[in-house]
Amino acid sequence: MAKLSIILPIYNEEKNIPIIYEELCKVLKNFTDISYEIIFVNDGSRDNSWHSILTITNQNPLIKALTFSRNFGHQIALSAGYDHATGDAIITMDADLQDPPDLIPSMLESWKNGAHIVYARRIDRQDTFLKRITAQLYYKFLGTISDVIIPRNVGDFRLIDKQVLAYIKQCKETSRYLRGMVAWAGFKHSFVDFKRPNRQLGATGYTWSKMVKLAFDGVTGFSLFPLKLAAFIGVFVVVTGTLMFMYITWDAIFNKITYPLFKWLVTIIYIFMGVQFLLLWIIGEYIGRIFEQQKGRPLYIIEKKINF
Ligand code: UDP
Ligand code: MG
Repeated sequence: MAKLSIILPIYNEEKNIPIIYEELCKVLKNFTDISYEIIFVNDGSRDNSWHSILTITNQNPLIKALTFSRNFGHQIALSAGYDHATGDAIITMDADLQDPPDLIPSMLESWKNGAHIVYARRIDRQDTFLKRITAQLYYKFLGTISDVIIPRNVGDFRLIDKQVLAYIKQCKETSRYLRGMVAWAGFKHSFVDFKRPNRQLGATGYTWSKMVKLAFDGVTGFSLFPLKLAAFIGVFVVVTGTLMFMYITWDAIFNKITYPLFKWLVTIIYIFMGVQFLLLWIIGEYIGRIFEQQKGRPLYIIEKKINF
């Protein structure tokens, strides 16, 4: 019998915990051919979330829970869930009911049909205008500079096969941008679309600073573009500086204009500023390579082996 793991990261969700548990039970009891486990990861909640979780784990041994010593953040909570999951398929979802459990049957269906990754895709974001527009711009930017194609309009509500999980566990990077890591893995993926409802109870645990950190983790983890910025500046400065130098030389020789020494110096210093930028870029390239190396991701991921 196949086993499903459901991971729920929890940060101050005391009111949502009993509700999401009940909703999940309603969905899960319809499956006759699948066993399951639910893993609550309490990410250092300051309210009574842990108490709410314990009430559930005391009733049902299929519900597992772990609690952090402090708030480590959503992505780390999900990673801890991944480390402890034992299922053949693993679903991560928010505990605030913004990721509806009703979607689980279609996600499982898709998985049974061969998809290794099933993303729940938001077709209709009800977030504030500011969050919508920043998210849109960010994903467009990340899509342009990143070598990995990270699907649009997906969050961390997804199903992954245990084969994908095995690879994620091998990635030891500390700045974790899971949706990028999952996309980087490759494999067959599919989408299940849904309208994302608003949060009903409690408050968002994602402050702007946490969101900015996540955004930076996405950019730095999946693109070396920021390190190459110096190259563009360097080329621009060297080219314009050389043109300027050629102009004043021409002016001095053919028009007999006398340029004071400081003008010559400013032009030369300007060119060398550009050279410095180019050197910075070269250092950046090395740092980028060190960075890639220390992430220690597997070089390749094998999906199938035949006759080995
Ligand atoms: N969460 C977490 N640690 C945090 C912030 C959030 O584990 O530091 C959990 C939270 O309890 C929820 C999920 O991550 O289950 C998504 O968070 P939230 O709903 O606050 O994010 P939003 O939907 O506003 O993007
Ligand atoms: Mg939410």
